[in-house]
Amino acid sequence: MAMSFRGSKYCWMNGQVMETKDALVPAMEPIYLGFFEGIKAHVEENILGEGPLNIFRAKAHMDRLWRSAAVCGIKIPYTKDQLIEATKEAIQANGFKTNVYIHLRVWPKGANPIQPHVVIGLWTFESKLGKGNPKFSEKRKFNVSSWRRIATDALPTQAKALANYANSELASRESRRLGFDGTLFLDSRGCISESTGACVMAVRDGKIITPPVTASILESVTRDTLLKALPEDLGIPVEVKDIARAEFYGSDEAFLCGTGSEITPITSLDDIPIGDQYPGPITTRVAEYYTDILVGKVKKYNSWLTPVQLLATARV
Ligand code: PMP
Repeated sequence: MAMSFRGSKYCWMNGQVMETKDALVPAMEPIYLGFFEGIKAHVEENILGEGPLNIFRAKAHMDRLWRSAAVCGIKIPYTKDQLIEATKEAIQANGFKTNVYIHLRVWPKGANPIQPHVVIGLWTFESKLGKGNPKFSEKRKFNVSSWRRIATDALPTQAKALANYANSELASRESRRLGFDGTLFLDSRGCISESTGACVMAVRDGKIITPPVTASILESVTRDTLLKALPEDLGIPVEVKDIARAEFYGSDEAFLCGTGSEITPITSLDDIPIGDQYPGPITTRVAEYYTDILVGKVKKYNSWLTPVQLLATARV
């Protein structure tokens, strides 16, 4: 996703909606114990059209934010419901009618772990999902990174700690330099871990396999969604297991899953083609169903959607 660092006109910071240009902090503050959430709000029913927005799995994202806070030893001075309301307020202030990417950041004010900064920044985006988007079928060549995924006894990969993303950024840069479109990490044991900002799934003989949390992955909300929905609703079996590098090379299909990446098919790993059909039929079916869930078409998951109504009082 191309992201301008300025974000939207309005953001929410430390208790109030304000212009993003005024959301300033002292330059010398230490930020290394910060953590964040990446959340999306989608337009209902028609993913690229206009209509009321729904935040996807707001509660699951807040739960993970609180777990990240616990790991980093920081107390968030709001309730989860207050931050969901604050997210709605920030969206409403901007008067957004299209899909919104929400970046919720927390980091300590100086040495004070009790009074952190809490900022909600926003960007609009076009979905990567579904048959309607030609980008879905673009070829994506991945490599195995020479950077290992940080070990869970070095940094908390299960938490969305900012520090983890130095590891991700180094691997992304290496991958681009080598002419690839994306990269997969091995964990410290040499098993497939995840990508730089998404989890990974492979398909073998009609079954989906995906690495366990102990393979240095983030506890992904999207992965959790698919683990619940695919076996139950589509009858596609999913097994959480360690995946060896060669096992991945020999897969029939593979794809990334994440809030930002949505369902992103992978064409090859280290120039070895994954399967002989691209994007594969299971990947395509998963992408379609995930889109349906996000935009409210699968009624049984409508409780995962937090509606945001447009207000006549939008500031823009
Ligand atoms: N792994 C990493 C390293 C990520 O940054 C993300 C994006 N948050 C994911 C996995 C996917 O997590 P989620 O489905 O909760 O967005």
